Amino acid sequence: MMKKFFSVENLTFVAIVLGVLCGVYLSKVALSVYILGKVFLRLLKLIIVPLVLTSVFVAVISLEDVRKVKDLGVKTLFYYLITTAFSVILGLALVTVIQPGKHYHLALATKRIAPHLKHFKLSDIVWSIIPSNIFNSFSKGKVLQIIFFSIILGLATIAVPKEKTRSLTNFFNNLNDVLLKFTQWIIALTPIGVFSLVSYTVAKAGLGIFVVLAKYAFTVILGLFIHAFITLALIGWIIGKYNPYSYFLKVREALLLAFSTASSAATLPVTLKVAEEKGRVKKEVAGFVLPLGATINMDGTALYEAVAAVFIANIYGIKLSFLQLVIIFLTATLASIGAAAIPGAGMVMLTLVLSSVGIPLEGIGIILTIDRFLDMLRTAVNVWGDLNGAKIINRFIKI
Ligand code: ASP
Repeated sequence: MMKKFFSVENLTFVAIVLGVLCGVYLSKVALSVYILGKVFLRLLKLIIVPLVLTSVFVAVISLEDVRKVKDLGVKTLFYYLITTAFSVILGLALVTVIQPGKHYHLALATKRIAPHLKHFKLSDIVWSIIPSNIFNSFSKGKVLQIIFFSIILGLATIAVPKEKTRSLTNFFNNLNDVLLKFTQWIIALTPIGVFSLVSYTVAKAGLGIFVVLAKYAFTVILGLFIHAFITLALIGWIIGKYNPYSYFLKVREALLLAFSTASSAATLPVTLKVAEEKGRVKKEVAGFVLPLGATINMDGTALYEAVAAVFIANIYGIKLSFLQLVIIFLTATLASIGAAAIPGAGMVMLTLVLSSVGIPLEGIGIILTIDRFLDMLRTAVNVWGDLNGAKIINRFIKI
């Protein structure tokens, strides 16, 4: 009982309330404890490069299984990629139209403004993806390049006979587990980080920040709603030939669990159960599509990453060029694939999207106030995306 109360979620909530109070009434204290928030952000930044390397590599290695079940694998990956891309595009469109960060400008604590890439050149995208020296990419935190390298490294590993790569894949699998533990420890520090960052933001920006935050939350929620009930529903209805709304009611147990735990992984057993028992998805299909989806398919997270990145850029008065939007599109998609299916993972991956276009990480402090609630919603959409995938693919696989 006691342990439950002291969960990271509850403590984070308490930290938000205390942070706001401290920011309003004890602004001097708020400014002096900012160092704690900075440490928290630094730790997030520290984990990102190794975590991206191992998680992408491990994801590619698991494609080995996709190859084994070729037909099922290719269809599943296709569905996952297309729907994730739709959700990011929707997020980018909504944040551009609604402009939740408009009329609100925060000064940067650090004087590091994103490089403004004025002229859009296709070759710039190519160079931002293909590294010439991977150690340079590691040290400069060029995430797209690291992802590119990890994908090729993974593909090459699959192509070499298993006996020769066993110790390499074991090494990466183990390292990935260790780094996930590391990430969980950083996430466990969220209450302290949140307290410091929220109180600093409120002390600096005043309570007016909440009006802007409400607009930002509205943009994310609207996007999640459209994606879940219109985009995915239409795909299910037209391609899957089922009634998406009655399917929604049938599988709601998993969606509610996803909402309350904010973890696709924790929800997986129930997701499998409802898909097979209530959604009448074949066991073989559900058993492949859903675990893979819980790991790599996160439409809600992808949409949130895109909206959050543009929003943070806006409030710092950073104008994003078309090229930067394309890079946000790519990194948000990849970040959602690489995000662990645990609470707060999307926020960790957001650092990747922000650094890919030079948006200051301190912006995360602003959105942290409501991140937990948005995490719950986006996790429910992540699981809903997987469940639709299972149902649609079920139609095309004859077993
Ligand atoms: N909590 C999400 C999930 O488990 C990931 C995220 O933080 O966006 O699906």
